[in-house]
Amino acid sequence: MKYDLDHRIARATALAEVYPAAREILTFYRELAVFQKSVSEDLRARPETDVRALVRYFPALLDVVSRNGPPQLTSFAGVNLDTSAKQEEILLACWEGDAAADPASSGAGRFYARALLQPYAEYLASRGNIQRDAAEPRCPFCNGLPVVGVLRGEGDGAKRSLLCSLCATEWLYRRVICPSCGEENKDKLPVFMADQIAHVRVDACDTCQTYVKSVDLTKDGHAVPVVDELATVALNIWAEEHGYSKFEPNLLGM
Ligand SMILES: [Zn+2]
Ligand SMILES: [Zn+2]
Repeated sequence: MKYDLDHRIARATALAEVYPAAREILTFYRELAVFQKSVSEDLRARPETDVRALVRYFPALLDVVSRNGPPQLTSFAGVNLDTSAKQEEILLACWEGDAAADPASSGAGRFYARALLQPYAEYLASRGNIQRDAAEPRCPFCNGLPVVGVLRGEGDGAKRSLLCSLCATEWLYRRVICPSCGEENKDKLPVFMADQIAHVRVDACDTCQTYVKSVDLTKDGHAVPVVDELATVALNIWAEEHGYSKFEPNLLGM
């Protein structure tokens, strides 16, 4: 099942009422998703496949961030994204995965690049022929890492899939295995849940101390995994206080 940007926008609006502690995050995310939708429609209309073409959307993105985002992101942009050459550099560094050698390795650089690369990568993935049962911890289309797991009830054993943090491709992955280090011993893979959040859980690994959250669609069929993941930031804080690091941060760097 595919969750398009309209689903994500609607879900962010709805969840802002349900999780008051995450309202600010969700409002910002919703405005970003509205922006990404316009980029996505524009890319489809052209159609454009050169990543450098994304530079043209930077002014609109900077505007969305200055109106809705945290001030650190705006001040980062004032210094590091004030020319189209710098914007292109950050985009390319993030796209080519050369994060360590570039300002895009900072949280803010990653954020700006990904806000644009996500609709672009998702557009490319929509035209690709993807092997969704690859059973690897990385995205079978773009090699990105998963931002969240998705649990569905299918037949006797509920299935897990992983959702790519970059191109939003979903692919099947075994349920009892750590996507970070491959640990398969159930005793080393604790699952944590919070009373107030029945449909999102923390799948942790005591071997490599990472975690991935999973959204259980059998418990909330209205969930839109990428949005419900953002809304339940309380679980991230809990996991990190208990010594686990997130396998892959979401768009907002959490
Ligand atoms: Zn991907
Ligand atoms: Zn592990």
